[in-house]
Amino acid sequence: MKPKIKVFTLGGTIAMVSDGSERGVSPKLKAESLINAVPGISDIADIDPVTFRQLPSPSISYHDIFDLLSEIYRSLDNGTNGIVITQGTDTLEETSFLLDRIYTGQAPIVTTGAMRNPTLPGADGPSNILHAVMVAASSEACGLGVLTVFNGDIHAARFVQKGHTQSPAAFTSSPIGPIGWVSESKVRIISNLNKRYIIDLNNKIQLPKVALLKVSMGDDGSLIDTVIDKGFDGLVIEGTGGGHLPAAMVEKITKAVAKIPVVLASRIGSGELLRETYMFPGSEIDLMDKGIINSGLMNGLQAKIILTLLLANGVNTNTIISEFNAWLE
Ligand code: GLU
Repeated sequence: MKPKIKVFTLGGTIAMVSDGSERGVSPKLKAESLINAVPGISDIADIDPVTFRQLPSPSISYHDIFDLLSEIYRSLDNGTNGIVITQGTDTLEETSFLLDRIYTGQAPIVTTGAMRNPTLPGADGPSNILHAVMVAASSEACGLGVLTVFNGDIHAARFVQKGHTQSPAAFTSSPIGPIGWVSESKVRIISNLNKRYIIDLNNKIQLPKVALLKVSMGDDGSLIDTVIDKGFDGLVIEGTGGGHLPAAMVEKITKAVAKIPVVLASRIGSGELLRETYMFPGSEIDLMDKGIINSGLMNGLQAKIILTLLLANGVNTNTIISEFNAWLE
């Protein structure tokens, strides 16, 4: 008996072509066409293709992912053994990370996409789908949450990042690297994730507004005032280096902390934030003393997703701090 794999397609480059009358490509292909372009796929699994959305991935919303998860649970209840999701690569790291935070099941969920659309030489969609199906059908992937399979590598959604605008090897995992790879007909998973971090969402999901700001040389913090004036419920700020701001921003960020939770991440996007090294106006020690929450291992995109989910659950600042710290235990 072959495993049953459901493939949900959401659009993205992997499903993008041009009808000839327009400049550039846009999402047009349905799930069946994506599957039909993959030689040998039916030898691996019984595939059930579903066109779930046809979007460029910057337009995928939190609610699209919540709806997708409901569909996933329905399919798993009806005997599906594993799930593959195809979508645009632009936000693949965010949707995969989000899904990984809220999915409580054991069956593999594998996300993938393509960097070269189906009209280009060397289109990578078919091989990525084949590998994603192989991983979704494998028992080794059970219990690992959401995985991203790209260019033959297997990444944990908790760590995956897009690191190149065009390369088919665009995806990396910081700080650990891929947890495995696909070799010929074999799925190799060589490192095990010791723990999954799941945020139980309340049934009624009212999404808060969380801003993400990146700090650069010469910033005076005016945008922080705008975040407060516009009624945002939380702020993630990507500081420089190990978690630093220009001194000129400190007064404004301190005022913001009195009103909303503010999480400090690093604009570098890789490595753990400092906690006890530097003491100057705007250093990590100074900012934490002022009540800013240290994002630990989370980059800005990940910290924004976690803060959004926690605020949606209505938790207080102490709980937010302990949730971020829990990732390092
Ligand atoms: N580069 C994107 C992709 O790989 C196109 C936009 C999108 O993310 O949908 O699919």
